[in-house]
Amino acid sequence: MTAPLTPRPHSTPEQKTMTQNALLDFSGLPRFDAILPGDVQPAISQLLEDSRSVVEALTSENIPATWDDFAAPLTDNIEQLSRAWGVVGHVHSVNDVPEWREAYNGMLPEVSRFYAELGQNLKLFAKYQAIREGQEYATLSPARRKIIDNEIRDFRLSGAALPEDKKPRFQAISEELASLSAKFSENLLDATNAFAEFIIDPAELAGLPEDVQQAAREAADKDGKAGWKFTLHMPSYLPVMQYAANRRLRAAMYRAYATRASEFGPAGLDNTPLIRSILELRREEAQLLGYNNFAEVSLVPKMAESVPQVLGFLRDLAVKAKPFAEKDITELRAFARQEIGLETLEPWDVGYVSEKLLQARYAFSEQEVKQYFTESKVLAGLFHVVETLFGVRLKPDTAPVWHEDVRFFRIETASGELIGQFYLDLYARETKRGGAWMDSAITRRRTGNGIQKPVAYLNCNFSRPVGNKPATFTHDEVTTLFHETGHGLHHLLTRVDELGVSGINGVEWDAVELPSQFMENYCWEWNVLQEMTGHVDTGAPLPRALFDKMLAAKNFQSGMQNVRQLEFSLFDLRLHADFDPAGENAGKPGMLDLLAEVRREVAVIKLPEWHRFPNSFSHIFAGGYGAGYFSYKWAEVLSADCYAAFEEAGNPFDPATGKRFLDEIIAAGGARPAIENFRAFRGREPQVDALLRHSGMITA
Ligand SMILES: [Zn+2]
Repeated sequence: MTAPLTPRPHSTPEQKTMTQNALLDFSGLPRFDAILPGDVQPAISQLLEDSRSVVEALTSENIPATWDDFAAPLTDNIEQLSRAWGVVGHVHSVNDVPEWREAYNGMLPEVSRFYAELGQNLKLFAKYQAIREGQEYATLSPARRKIIDNEIRDFRLSGAALPEDKKPRFQAISEELASLSAKFSENLLDATNAFAEFIIDPAELAGLPEDVQQAAREAADKDGKAGWKFTLHMPSYLPVMQYAANRRLRAAMYRAYATRASEFGPAGLDNTPLIRSILELRREEAQLLGYNNFAEVSLVPKMAESVPQVLGFLRDLAVKAKPFAEKDITELRAFARQEIGLETLEPWDVGYVSEKLLQARYAFSEQEVKQYFTESKVLAGLFHVVETLFGVRLKPDTAPVWHEDVRFFRIETASGELIGQFYLDLYARETKRGGAWMDSAITRRRTGNGIQKPVAYLNCNFSRPVGNKPATFTHDEVTTLFHETGHGLHHLLTRVDELGVSGINGVEWDAVELPSQFMENYCWEWNVLQEMTGHVDTGAPLPRALFDKMLAAKNFQSGMQNVRQLEFSLFDLRLHADFDPAGENAGKPGMLDLLAEVRREVAVIKLPEWHRFPNSFSHIFAGGYGAGYFSYKWAEVLSADCYAAFEEAGNPFDPATGKRFLDEIIAAGGARPAIENFRAFRGREPQVDALLRHSGMITA
């Protein structure tokens, strides 16, 4: 790590001190031991200025539109900015103390503005187009061609290729859509806040956990009222639906929840007219871009290829899952009648009765399971899985880190050659963002000095060891660790030499979750679990009986859960494909008719006539999932289908299958369309059967 600092052109005395700035040292690993919050503003400002002048210079007329003259220097320069800003963003996430928060927030608007400008820079678009149309294009590597194609695709989807007279309308639509989406969320939040149910009689709280009652009591207190206050926010609403024996309370809250932001509430908060405008504007936008409908636009940058393909996929899964959903609901009705004394199972009974059924049939203690997953066993088990599956070696390594908890490892080939490195930051801290995530520190690429090796951050929020006992993890946490490691391997084991499509770069977002969800499967392999567990006191591996209960609980009501997700996915896709939002006034079927049609096809629970699910479907109207909700199921199906290749080989570590999975999917990154990666690995189109089997829905 003693290579010279990157030389900066035209050094002035002032810039000389800039080279002391550890954030501007790109010679090796980030210098977490030296970087200070005060370095952020000068370093990032300098990099932004450099990048702007490079973009300006490279888009001038006298720069030939070739890879070496244009694309390569542009990549080199912008990589420095994204690496340095990546370090700042990372430290902000894992060490969110006031100085770092201030340093990050201070530069965030500037950095966001720079990237927004890049996406709108028509001179850049013109250069990429010139490469695409030039003679050199055919001679470029597939990875380079893919980068050029992706750039042009993204510029086109943001309206850059439209004729000048169409651009103002396109721009106006984009702005209006943004404000409609924001208004949709605001209405939903206001409608959620508008409702409160006060309970005065303590007998009406039966079944609710102590902490939920306590929170309800405090909420009422805060309002200066007696009794207990329940709201439509998740921490209040969910426990009521799941645990409250009080059927009247459940019914009242269910109705309030199901009719939020609809015509049944205040007119100013009704999302119905917003939905119609959003659908109409999306359709108009799609047609301006030359597509038939918004669903087609949504699929352009995704792995799924066409609307009929996705519809076929969802319907195939629906046909196969529905019998299991019917079995689930029949079982639930019988249990409600026999054990709870409910003759009819209403929608507001489903959560409550399901919880009772789960407890009666499949209960086990999370705390008991946790005793078996000690940190050293889990890490050794994880590393063993990775090593066996991909033929690599994982070893401890050293690097400057941002906290004493952080560990650092290297991945090598069997013959000892360095592939990549990663940081592992397992424990929760007050200054660390919640959840678990993988981020890239350095991305693999070929440079003038050879191959730049990739480096990843793996971050979790598990509990640290207490006293002299090792840390223990819940099975959920172990699964999370495998999931994030899957993302990490996608980044680290890539063999692509071009930054724009190396690792997870350029991977379609409905394919990004494939390696991560794939890795989760190993947390459900009995043989892996035996090796990976050792009771914190006795050292004994996980007992089989406990594992069987965990498995049964995992698959509890998977039929019902699947058809529910399919209902959302089909509704979303059809709404953005063949549905005419203007038709309702002309006597054609409306949005609720479409929903009813979808529900007749896939759903097993009859909903009340007044249910207004679309009015709170913020994923698709306010969250970027428009005509993309299916991606959740899509990624699950793909990862299950990939894992099934190992099952068919009779061994979850089958070497030939492991090599093919590495070669065709993990190492291929975004250099080839994800659907082609899949076909190359599987030798056929994706099939839904493995997901059904893994969820306990076994057909003969
Ligand atoms: Zn993920």
